[in-house]
Amino acid sequence: MDGQNNPKLSVRGATKVYSTRSGDLVAIDRCSLDVKAGEIVSIVGPSGCGKTTLLWSMSGLHPLSSGEVLLDGKPVKGPNPEIGMVFQEATLLPWRNLDSNIRFPFEIKGNRPDEAWIGELLHKVGLEGFGSRFPRELSGGMQQRAALVRALSFKPSVLLMDEPFGALDSFTREEMNRLVEQIWLETQTTIVLITHSIEEAIFLSDRVIVMSARPGRVAKEYKVPFPRPRSFEIMSTKEVFDLTNAIKLEIVGDQKSRFAQQASDTIQPAAE
Ligand code: ADP
Ligand code: MG
Repeated sequence: MDGQNNPKLSVRGATKVYSTRSGDLVAIDRCSLDVKAGEIVSIVGPSGCGKTTLLWSMSGLHPLSSGEVLLDGKPVKGPNPEIGMVFQEATLLPWRNLDSNIRFPFEIKGNRPDEAWIGELLHKVGLEGFGSRFPRELSGGMQQRAALVRALSFKPSVLLMDEPFGALDSFTREEMNRLVEQIWLETQTTIVLITHSIEEAIFLSDRVIVMSARPGRVAKEYKVPFPRPRSFEIMSTKEVFDLTNAIKLEIVGDQKSRFAQQASDTIQPAAE
């Protein structure tokens, strides 16, 4: 039996080196973090610090150069039905309607979808009755809700999301955040979310992990101790404001020191 204290998902010393034309590029370097069952953890950090690389490694979509990812203590070595993914773009197939987009992963695997569960999910996200629409007939928010339904249709125990609402306007984004909170309250799915929005990270997470600039490592971790559902009143408190600022400062501070480093790399001191 799984112990209550064992992490659901565990990243141990994850390092990923990409071979590029201009040489090896270390995207993440000895990254380690644990996510407990039922926890929501956000990962934030400067652009290019390796967040997507880390998430793809967690999902088994690409292999690490060294280190490992464990799901319930077992190595993740390839795509896993226990892990659902939502990307920044909804990645729906334009020539298929919503119903057949959601069923597409089942088709490739030759599995029968759980129609009752899909119906329930469509109802939850407000897409009931839209099954025959094509992606072009849906708004960005609706497409992303469909992608969320597709990811949850397998009943994954872990949901990984890579800046899922970054392309949406701020109202739709808030709506999507409430929807994810609602789904979490009902399913307690373990969630790892990459986001550029500190507000979104604080609204949704139990913990916010800040990554350092490339090569990405875990720089700092913040607990988000506010009760759920996180009402407008809770989100307007001084505690939330202070936490938001502390996280922003951590990221900006890191970028500042990186720029200073770059400057001192390029501006060589005059020879004596
Ligand atoms: P983030 O999601 O934090 O913006 P990424 O994980 O996308 O960061 O990228 C980290 C670094 O790795 C960047 O410098 C990026 O250019 C590089 N990178 C990402 N994917 C590849 C790839 N397939 N091949 C080579 N370099 C890559
Ligand atoms: Mg990214």
